[in-house]
Formats: sequence, C-alpha cells, structure tokens
Amino acid sequence: MSARDHTRSDKLFAEASGLMPGGVSSPVRAFSAVGSHPFFVERASGATITDVDGNQYIDLVQSWGALLFGHAHPEIVRAVADAAARGTSFGTPSELEVEMARTVVGMIPNVERVRFVSSGTEAGMSAARLARGATGRTKLLKFTGCYHGHADALLVQAGSGVATLGIPGTPGVTDGATADTITCEYNDLDEVRSVVEPFSDQVAAILVEPVAANMGLVVPNDGYLEGLRAIADEIGALLVFDEVITGFRLAAGGAQERFQVRADIVLLGKIIGGGLPVGAIAGSAELLDQFAPTGPIYQAGTLSGNPVAMAAGLTNLQMIQADPGIYDRVQERARSLVRGLIDAADHAATVPLYAAAIGGLAGFFFSEDEIINYSQAAATSEETYAKFFRGMLERGVYLPPSRFEALFIGDAHTEDHVDHIVHAAADVFATLR
Ligand SMILES: *Cc1c(COP(=O)(O)O)cnc(C)c1O
Repeated sequence: MSARDHTRSDKLFAEASGLMPGGVSSPVRAFSAVGSHPFFVERASGATITDVDGNQYIDLVQSWGALLFGHAHPEIVRAVADAAARGTSFGTPSELEVEMARTVVGMIPNVERVRFVSSGTEAGMSAARLARGATGRTKLLKFTGCYHGHADALLVQAGSGVATLGIPGTPGVTDGATADTITCEYNDLDEVRSVVEPFSDQVAAILVEPVAANMGLVVPNDGYLEGLRAIADEIGALLVFDEVITGFRLAAGGAQERFQVRADIVLLGKIIGGGLPVGAIAGSAELLDQFAPTGPIYQAGTLSGNPVAMAAGLTNLQMIQADPGIYDRVQERARSLVRGLIDAADHAATVPLYAAAIGGLAGFFFSEDEIINYSQAAATSEETYAKFFRGMLERGVYLPPSRFEALFIGDAHTEDHVDHIVHAAADVFATLR
C-alpha cells in the first residue's frame, strides 16, 4: 500500500502550531497519543471525511459524537441556511427555542424544564451550581475516567483528553476548587457507599456518565445505575446523568429510557445541536426554576438558544422522531463492527482484543479481559493502540486518536463501511505484536 500524501496537512499543521497551542482548538484533536499529527479537513459528507490533500477516510469519530446522521446531512444544512438567512443571533427569545424545548421535554423522560447553553462544559458547570444551590450542600461525587467538561470542580480524575495527555491534576485549578469533589472508580457501588459514608449529608450530587465513553467505551454493570439511584435517594443527593454522549445516542430518551433509571438532572450536548454548539441542563420544574430569573441561581449566555443552532438541533431531533428504527439500526451496525473486529483479531492472533457496543457506540481495548473501569483501561497499551490507529488511518479509517475515546456509529455508516473497516483491521492486526 502506497503511503498517503499529507503535504498540505503537514504545512497547515506547521503554521497552526505557530498560531494556536499545539496547532489545535481543542487538545483531543492533537494526535500526540498516537505519535502523529492531525490531518486538516477540507469537507465531509455522510460517513466520510476528506482532508486537504484529497485523502478520504471512513469517519468513526463523527465530530466526537455530535453527529448521528453523518456529516452535512441535507436536511440539517437546509435548516441552518434558512435560519441564518433570518438572522444569526437575536439575543431575544425566538419560536425555535420553544419548539426545541418542547421537543427535548417530549423526548427525555422525567424532564419538565430545559435551560439551553452552548456546550457540554457549560451544562456540566451549570449543573454543579444548580445541584449545590438547590441542596445547600457542597460535595460532588464523580467517577474516575468520566468527563463532564473542563469546569474547575469537575476536572478531577477526568477522562477524554485529560487522560490521553496524562495530565494528573490540572495546573490553574486551585485545591479549593476541587476540595469538594470526591472521586470513585466506575462500576463499584461498594466504593461509593464507603466513600460517601462520612459525608452523607454533604453530597449535593452524584454525577455519572450512564455509559462511560471518555475512557474508551465502558458499559455499566447490571444494577450499577439502579444502585447509584438508591444511594442518591438514601443520602438525599441528586443523581445527575451526564448524557452529553448518551443522550439521543442510546435511545430517543437516552440512558434513562434505555436502562429505566430516573435521573434528577440530565446534561445534554453533542447530538442535541446536530453539529452546531448546543448544550442543555434538563430536569423537574422544581429544580430548573431555581435558575435565574425565576430563582436565585445565576446562569446566563449571550448565544444560548442561538437560532441557527436551535434550527440545526431541532431538525436533528425531528429526524430522530420521524425514524423510530434508527437506534436498532445503529446498534446492529455497531455490533456488526465489533463482531468483525473480534473475529479479525482472533484470526490474526497477534494481540488480545476486548470490544463492546451499545446504541450508536462501540469501543475496543487491547486486553484479554473485559474492561469495567478506568484503571483497567489505563493499563492497556498506548503503543499498541497508536500503531493500530496509524495503520487504520493509512487504510482510510479514522479512529479516535486516543484509546480513551469511543467510536461513534451513525446512520450514515453502512455494512459496506463496516466491511472496509474490518478488512483494514485484519491487515493491521497482522502487523501488531
Ligand atoms: C464532550 C463531553 C462533555 C463536554 O462537552 P463540550 O461540548 O466538549 O464542552 C461533557 N460531558 C461528556 C460526557 C462529554 O462527552
């Protein structure tokens, strides 16, 4: 196989590195953990992404899970263009927000009110404030390897780019900002019980990714989410599901629908914006009405509820509502990919492979054993992942550039794409040791 040409990407990366830290606007986009540097994108359509040197890739990152229907879906592009023509920002309420809020409240269980923001990070920081303000308590419990955005209080033992870059505690976050953040290993209820014991009347919220997708893909053990619900009820804490990834990806109603476990606050991001910057905090009227202006808890945003972003998000959600089979389809495709990868790895017999799929999420680790938490994920080889990543990229498959991220399967991925990916993987597995 002839090496791909990366001349223009390399040149842009050199320029970008002199203008932006690491040449990127967000650290997860750097290819540092896979011993490479990023390609620069010219355009993308459906399941494929094309770089400035004309190389095409089957994209399994899909803007980090923001896209469910693939890149540049015509309906969303049209909605964006129509909305932009009527004005890109009003700074005043619009009908689109009402429709969007009605749609979110209709789709997500146990939710009566929604506050729109512009990113998952904003949703996470606002939820922490709401939980503390509403309960009058200070402590937050989160799980190692879960990522809830980069707000100070939540940037403790975080997954995603923090794990990828091996940043222990982040400089610039004061001890004070994280003194009230408690961390536990994912999938271990006994640890949660013993850790909260001395503080049981001080915990404002338990925050969790109901399916962890920022330490690679780690699915919850049977009964785990029910157990967190029970502990939260016992100690009078709020249960916050960070559904920035799982929302509209596991089911139309997210993880609450999929696992039949109720959350007090739901964080949304990524898919909710249909590729534009939207996040949301959703929950009961009693809780959400404590935000200003109805309540005393301040939270605001100049571009919150932006009409172009609302148009993209609303169109995306309406496409989901119009297509009840979508979650079965994407899950079947994700499972088919995972089966193919496992068979190919078995056949090559060079490296052990553990893989899982749920909804439009897939993930794999180079491990003999099932991976149920961050410690186990972190013990897998970064070097093997890096070699695999580079081999796949050379064969036209764009995987996440870190073993601490999930693969995103959407409606644009076909069985032909899966075949291509599995064949490429078979080739690359054969070269691994
Ligand atoms: C991506 C992510 C966030 C942060 O969202 P941004 O839009 O990147 O700020 C928060 N929580 C989870 C679970 C995420 O995957």
